[in-house]
Amino acid sequence: MKIGFIGLGNMGAPMAENLAKAGHHVTGFDMATVTVNGVSNARSAVDAASDADVVVTMLPNGDILKSVAAQVIPVMRKGAVLLDCSTVDVDSARRVATDAEAAGLLPLDAPVSGGIGGAAAGTLTFMVGGSEEAYRKALPLFEIMGQKSVHCGASGNGQAAKICNNMILGVTMIATCEAFALADKLGLDRQAMFDVVSTSSGYSWSMNAYCPAPGIGPQSPADNGYKPGFAADLMLKDLRLSQQAAEASDADTPLGQAATELYRQFVEDEDGTGRDFSAMLPRFEKRGRS
Ligand code: NAD
Repeated sequence: MKIGFIGLGNMGAPMAENLAKAGHHVTGFDMATVTVNGVSNARSAVDAASDADVVVTMLPNGDILKSVAAQVIPVMRKGAVLLDCSTVDVDSARRVATDAEAAGLLPLDAPVSGGIGGAAAGTLTFMVGGSEEAYRKALPLFEIMGQKSVHCGASGNGQAAKICNNMILGVTMIATCEAFALADKLGLDRQAMFDVVSTSSGYSWSMNAYCPAPGIGPQSPADNGYKPGFAADLMLKDLRLSQQAAEASDADTPLGQAATELYRQFVEDEDGTGRDFSAMLPRFEKRGRS
């Protein structure tokens, strides 16, 4: 397949490289000058998109996605797939899909879980919104870039799944960190706490796979000075998207709201910028109740 890949950042570059390694003809474009093994450089987004069977976008936010989509939709071939893998708000995803469909294209919103490690290893999970026809066309690419893809329904539903998943993740990470800080004050050994919770009803991905306490459980960013991993800034971005979606759809998400405010404080008022999102634990360690 001829693939145009727009947005060759931390995630996009390894994803594009994996597509090229699998034998696809990949032409990439990024605003910054980026070289990716096996990927030829286009001079513009339009250049990368005009001859492609599939255009993949991996961009920072919904406004940038909309502006790139406005450039590439008019030049893409009819029947081509516009595959956005960025994490953006549901409204932007649906707006881009409507414009793409009107131009005879097959749009998909397919945000990912798995982070930079998953992008490099080709083990991402894709949550996909869009038509069955578009999903079937993109499936061979999901199988190269990831280990799993779930077709979640119509356009925007991929973003909806991502936002809901990450709201759960933000809330459970905070709960796990709070519980470790409380256990410390109660004189409970962290290893004992992990051994109990990881096999009891308090278990979660945050505890079992990404334990925020250094030296406990499997290797995680806590064992690497809380270097991301998944940055607190990105968690804040995703939590804000969840709250924007909750407001737009009149959904009651009090814990999502509390998690958003805690990550906002951590990132904007404290030392959270550039740290992993599990660095909430040292934050709680330092604090008392008052
Ligand atoms: P990044 O900032 O490293 O990459 C974004 C790239 O887009 C940059 O290289 C930037 O130069 C480029 N770009 C910006 N505007 C552009 C334009 N108009 N035209 C062309 N290129 C443009 O970000 P990332 O970590 O690769 O994340 C990309 C997306 O994936 C985001 O939506 C993020 O929320 C999501 N995501 C990231 C992770 C992660 O762990 N990093 C995990 C899951 C999802």
